[in-house]
Amino acid sequence: MILPSKERLLRGRAAVIACPREECRSCLSACGFTAIRIESGRPYSDPDKCVGCGGCAAICPEGAIRLLRLTNGGAEITFPYEGELPELGDTVTVAPAAGGRPVPARVVWAAPKRPNAAFALVRAVIPETDDPASAEAQRFFQEGEH
Ligand code: SF4
Ligand code: SF4
Repeated sequence: MILPSKERLLRGRAAVIACPREECRSCLSACGFTAIRIESGRPYSDPDKCVGCGGCAAICPEGAIRLLRLTNGGAEITFPYEGELPELGDTVTVAPAAGGRPVPARVVWAAPKRPNAAFALVRAVIPETDDPASAEAQRFFQEGEH
């Protein structure tokens, strides 16, 4: 999995793909911006083309795509969500990368599952705190996977 640069994440949302099932390729056809291509056998979202629309994250049957963004107040993550949608302001736990260590995050946006999608989408902010898990998540966003 390749993380966009910190500078790119400060400019806006970008998709990050951790694909476990390369033969599927639904995300390639879901992207209307031709941002996703195959690199070394795996789908990769080009941060220079991605506009952070979230279409690929909602369509991926494995829930393997997240949108990341850095803000002045923390790190923002948009991720596939199953079940009853949380309310704005609720705290949810989310792993910055698929399969990673979950950390608490505050919900700032939620969109129900569309008829042709695999998941609803939820957006939450991981605040900068002294909590070790939060610090680890912030470092992940700033420096990439460890
Ligand atoms: S939609 Fe998901 S499982 Fe399918 S190729 Fe893309 S990342 Fe992999
Ligand atoms: S977030 Fe939108 S623009 Fe970016 S790769 Fe996914 S579908 Fe394409």
